Amino acid sequence: MDDADREDARRELIDELRRRLDVRERVLSAIEAVPRHAFVPERYRQHAYADRPLPIGNDQTISAPHMVAIMTDLLDIEPGDRVLEIGTGCGYHAAVVSEIVGPGNVFSVEYVPELADEARDRLRRLGYDVTVRAGDGREAFRDEAPFDAAYLTCAAPVDIPEQIVDRVRIGGRIVAPIGASDGAQRLVRLTVREDGVDREDHGGVRFVPMQ
Ligand code: SAH
Repeated sequence: MDDADREDARRELIDELRRRLDVRERVLSAIEAVPRHAFVPERYRQHAYADRPLPIGNDQTISAPHMVAIMTDLLDIEPGDRVLEIGTGCGYHAAVVSEIVGPGNVFSVEYVPELADEARDRLRRLGYDVTVRAGDGREAFRDEAPFDAAYLTCAAPVDIPEQIVDRVRIGGRIVAPIGASDGAQRLVRLTVREDGVDREDHGGVRFVPMQ
């Protein structure tokens, strides 16, 4: 696939997402701006603009573009917001969010150190100023709190860990898949309130489990 074919495939993907999803134009523009092929292994490059997840090694996957679009829209973010990501993977979703909030505003933690290193290098090479750390999402980036929004790209088995909720400001949003890896996972959005959280269900999903 040459650059022109890729451009066409990317535009078709965006048109398809626009037809199928009710998400902000800002989110579609961000997806259009990110070269997804640069985030997938060589042998899957020809499928980089198909709307599906792809393997990235270490038993992990890059999320499907429609899932990235839906989750990013639910975060309700704007330029300048500071966002926490749990589960960097290849760094694709972080790049999409970075397109919206701008340089230096995305903080992403990845459990598998090799993936964290690769994603950090890749994001830097592509010009994204995203801070990537290796570690457990329950612990990382306490020093950077509070965040305007946070999201998990791995499924929390029972509920969103309290430590993550504590790192989001009042009025901030948290988007995450919740549920067992083999069972019914639900995509939920929490909005942090003074005296607890508001909770919305956004349908069935399938993500790798949180370690
Ligand atoms: N954000 C990616 C998808 C990543 S897949 C994208 O852009 O497509 C989910 C990732 O979550 C995996 O890489 C997995 O290693 C990571 N993960 C699992 N449990 C974690 C934890 N406790 N803390 C941080 N990362 C975790």
